[in-house]
Amino acid sequence: MAFKPANHIQDLQYFGEFGGVNPSISDSSTYTFLSAKTMFDTFEGNADGCYLYSRHSSPSNLYLGQALAAMEGTETANVTASGMGAITGVIMQLCKANDHIVCSRTIYGGTYAFLKKFTPSFGIETSFVDITNLDAVEAAINNKTKVLYCESVSNPLLEVADLKALAALAKKHNLKLVVDNTFSPLSISPQHLGADVTIHSLTKFINGSSDTVGGVVCGTQDFINELRDVNTGACMLLGSTMDSMRASSILKNLRTLHIRIQQHSKNALYLAERFEQIGLKTVYPGLPSHPSHHVYKSMLNEEYGYGGMLTIDAGNISKANELMELMQNKNLGYLAVSLGFYKTLFSAPGSSTSSEIPEEEQKEMGLSDGLIRFSIGLDADIARTYDTMVECMEEVGVL
Ligand code: PLP
Repeated sequence: MAFKPANHIQDLQYFGEFGGVNPSISDSSTYTFLSAKTMFDTFEGNADGCYLYSRHSSPSNLYLGQALAAMEGTETANVTASGMGAITGVIMQLCKANDHIVCSRTIYGGTYAFLKKFTPSFGIETSFVDITNLDAVEAAINNKTKVLYCESVSNPLLEVADLKALAALAKKHNLKLVVDNTFSPLSISPQHLGADVTIHSLTKFINGSSDTVGGVVCGTQDFINELRDVNTGACMLLGSTMDSMRASSILKNLRTLHIRIQQHSKNALYLAERFEQIGLKTVYPGLPSHPSHHVYKSMLNEEYGYGGMLTIDAGNISKANELMELMQNKNLGYLAVSLGFYKTLFSAPGSSTSSEIPEEEQKEMGLSDGLIRFSIGLDADIARTYDTMVECMEEVGVL
């Protein structure tokens, strides 16, 4: 398949059935057939272009899937009701009882809980490793390992996975490299670096308006067909289907993603550089001080920058909480989990999005209780935002 570059989403041309500039929304859960034979063939997976039942697929979901596949450069994609719907479906499709996964130890708390607490009861075990230590990754692989799983930029520590090197390891050991690219859409294209499957929580930057949850699995046609198989497909059978109305609204928001990501990245870099200069412990992959800055740089689609996520350390949880409450009072953003909104969002992951990870493990991986994770917004006047943030930090004694 010819690669459609990530920034050419606008090159996709879909007409509505009445010539509308947006495709019509498929507002049906079930579809008619002119002949019973075609219905049978569709069940068997042999009637291309026919729709059966919307848990399987719908025209609106296919449009969004096509656009996301074009963005990631994969053959196709399957959209799901949430990011977790994508992650759990992929894992359950690729792994059966007695299989093993090697996974980054810094990942979204829900993914961690799924692999640590949920899948072992199905006989699927996971070893959690420092994904930036390739020797440790390789040492954790055994003859039962089927999947190497990571986030390209990890939640919440912003560790960066060297996807080319991990793809080489996966190839060597005949594993599937599954990459959650939620924190770095457009900036990083995992498929072009060797990933087998790329996942997103669409809830975040891609939709960008914090009005829905959603997810996507981007991969080969064969793998997506497996996920949708009526007899054995995890997406079909576990039922994490996106609603057509949502698919349509996310598709419309996707069209401005390239502009939004550029602004998120520009604002985040501006703040990160200045936070670091005034002595705050700042983590941002665009800073040369980030331990994997060069790795990110080597993978970067330059025009999109290093993304909108950064962290600072406020020292302890009470200072972090005080600072976040004050910043919200000053209208600098919202004290809320999630990311990718037009407003800045901030939260303390240790007691929120990563609370599934036991305290001891949090410490071991470097997740301090004063850590604040910022998803930097689309502010037009970032210099003013910076000045007000610094005033807040001085007021609560973080500076
Ligand atoms: N992956 C990452 C990196 C996330 O941060 C999240 C949610 O915060 C998810 C996956 C799960 O996505 P969703 O909340 O859409 O199910």
